[in-house]
Amino acid sequence: MKTFDLLYSNSATRTVIGGNINDLQKFVPYLSKKENCFAVVDENVNRLYPEILPGIVKIILSSGEKSKNLSTIEQLYSLFLDMGVVRSSLIIGIGGGVALDIVGYAAATYYRGIRCGFIATTLLAQVDAAFGGKNGINYDKYKNIIGSIHQPEFVLCDFKFLETLPEQELKNGFAEIIKSSLIGNAKLFDFLINNSEYLLQLDKIVLERVVEDCIKIKTDIVKQDENEKGIRKILNFGHTIGHAIEAEYKLPHGQAILHGMEFAIWVSMQIGMLQADEYSIINELILKFKQKIKNKFEPKKILNNILKDKKKSEDKIDFILLEKIGKPLIMPISINDLKEYLNQWSMVNGQWSMVNGQWSMVNG
Ligand code: ADP
Ligand code: ZN
Repeated sequence: MKTFDLLYSNSATRTVIGGNINDLQKFVPYLSKKENCFAVVDENVNRLYPEILPGIVKIILSSGEKSKNLSTIEQLYSLFLDMGVVRSSLIIGIGGGVALDIVGYAAATYYRGIRCGFIATTLLAQVDAAFGGKNGINYDKYKNIIGSIHQPEFVLCDFKFLETLPEQELKNGFAEIIKSSLIGNAKLFDFLINNSEYLLQLDKIVLERVVEDCIKIKTDIVKQDENEKGIRKILNFGHTIGHAIEAEYKLPHGQAILHGMEFAIWVSMQIGMLQADEYSIINELILKFKQKIKNKFEPKKILNNILKDKKKSEDKIDFILLEKIGKPLIMPISINDLKEYLNQWSMVNGQWSMVNGQWSMVNG
């Protein structure tokens, strides 16, 4: 188990990796004032773990992206008022990225911001979503368009929760782990190459190292750009194309991001930035976690999806490329160039690999 404080400009987040939820009070003494603590729990987590945080009032939250809306927030405000949540109260969000996004936003806005803490129960939340303070809900057809930045007082990552997580949800976490290593830590990337089997088996020692590294990569970036003006964009590595693929082909987030990263490293190699041998090693790791899909991607559909929430005046988008493993680069790419790359990529639509010193293509 590891405990440390993540320091931001105006706050700190006590972080516990590999800890047990039953020991939470050791890290959060405020929990002794049970009457002033309120938990908001994802419905599936509550069903699987009905006994968590005994003595603390719980509000159950419907799971899934469809709950990330204003009406859920309104219901929460109303319950907060009924239950006597006040300015000094602590709201504890328990669940994956969706639950934590909702709880984070409700806590950030109720009384102009009250204390909150997170118990992250999905791998994706433990390596990514629970950290950085960004929360958001969807409005109309726009994802995360309403939100704020509000750091939690604590985040607990208890690996026990991962044992009940559906495989697809675990894979979403793995994709984000690969992303973190590529944008922030070549040593973590090497570790993943050598330990991916243990990671797939949820080995606790491997998890502890990987989760800690991912949190540090993300929060180091966030600290440099808490208000998302510049460098924080590199967290979007693989996500520009990934989100479009996710929406168009209804793929799980992690799978879509793996395709998005494949495209990003392919472009990075095409423009002579990423060395071929690094490209090949990254692809190998991606392949271990990627599932084959039936569809052939259609560049036009992907591009239309990317453009749908861009303003007409924007003819360039900030694309995240990779110079080498652990070294990303933000590069404005014109829509026309992106279209061209997508066309070429879709024609290749396979994995390049080095065979006997020669590049050859195998179907992906
Ligand atoms: P993410 O963290 O990837 O954003 P969500 O918050 O949408 O994911 O959670 C994904 C799904 O997993 C939801 O259906 C949620 O109810 C469920 N879930 C969350 N944590 C657990 C867990 N520990 N065991 C089983 N299911 C879980
Ligand atoms: Zn993601």
